[in-house]
Amino acid sequence: MSTAAADAAAAAVSRDRVVALTEALVRCDTQNPPGRESSVVPALVGVLEGLGCAVEVVEPVVGRPSVLATYRPAGAGDAGTLLVNGHLDVVPVVADDWTHPPFAPTLVGTRLHGRGTADMKGGIAAALEGLAACRDAGVEPRATIAFHLVADEETGGAHGTEALVAAGRVHADACIIPEPTELGISVAERGSVQVRVRVEGEAGHGSEPGAARSAIADAARMITALHDGAVSAAAHPYVGTPTCNVALVEGGVARNVVAPWCTFVLDRRTAPGETLDDVLAGLRRVIDAACPGAVYALETLVVVEASEVAADHPFPRFVAGLTGAGDPGELIGLSLGTDGRFLRNQLAIPTVIYGPGSIRQAHTADEWVEVGELVAAARTFARAYASFTAGGVTPSSASSAR
Ligand SMILES: [Zn+2]
Repeated sequence: MSTAAADAAAAAVSRDRVVALTEALVRCDTQNPPGRESSVVPALVGVLEGLGCAVEVVEPVVGRPSVLATYRPAGAGDAGTLLVNGHLDVVPVVADDWTHPPFAPTLVGTRLHGRGTADMKGGIAAALEGLAACRDAGVEPRATIAFHLVADEETGGAHGTEALVAAGRVHADACIIPEPTELGISVAERGSVQVRVRVEGEAGHGSEPGAARSAIADAARMITALHDGAVSAAAHPYVGTPTCNVALVEGGVARNVVAPWCTFVLDRRTAPGETLDDVLAGLRRVIDAACPGAVYALETLVVVEASEVAADHPFPRFVAGLTGAGDPGELIGLSLGTDGRFLRNQLAIPTVIYGPGSIRQAHTADEWVEVGELVAAARTFARAYASFTAGGVTPSSASSAR
């Protein structure tokens, strides 16, 4: 996508302004838990109103606000809505582990350090800078641009994007989520099914372990097979093969008794397209092969859905066409989940994850983002706003989307 308007908008991106906005957002401590998103709302509302957005703060749970902003271009026709979704919360810090202050952002060379610089206040700042650049260049977006800057992503999204979806507040023709992807364009992400396996054995005298069926011995066979083994034949082109991590084990009653019970909890990472039934059937297959005749039960604890947008859908190709020099712009998959799953799976909104910073930096001490990636992402957003129309990214118009 190279039009004069998109080029002008991209050229108007201000490095200093996107860095300053990232710093301003990082200074607000929004650690979750407990979730302190309120602290960032005043600064954000001021910036959004300054960009000409209509702003609404929704608070499905007291103290857990999300900010909804809408920019309606002058003389807009029916070009649809492009949504940017980003989360305001950050994961907690262990202050002693940081050499830079987590909430007083520090620029060292080309790296801006601070909690949320990569995940994902830098991405939010880049998305907002894109709109500021359009304004400065005198480029009016063609579609409505909506920002959903939400609470609670880091602990599952129930008070943020999931609540907005449940309340019918999300309407868009396409969405970009600027989570850290090192400027790759993610079209698929894994989900997670956490299962507790309870294994039943028989109590017996510890001096004769062969005379009773030990639940711990059975569980050990199961765990080895599940943890190391192939839990699914599925291989996804962007997220690879599903995995299984056995994370917790408990069992037995006394040091001198053959164990009558054992439980373990596993985290089975799923690929798009796998159902819960598929996952549980696959676990049973592995367990039954490893430990014939064992008595056990599976209890599903948590399900986080995998999700994807078809890689040949016109919207990922549209975004790939926007990216500039120094920006990989490649289609990738993520091994972890984002709020994109709610938009893809429940609302069928074509959604890509694209943003500055690395997932290797997210959640770490001394988290940082490359300033060059902030600028590159802001340019991509400026181009997106200058050129997006819903009609340009509908599947029937695939051949004309570029
Ligand atoms: Zn994130």
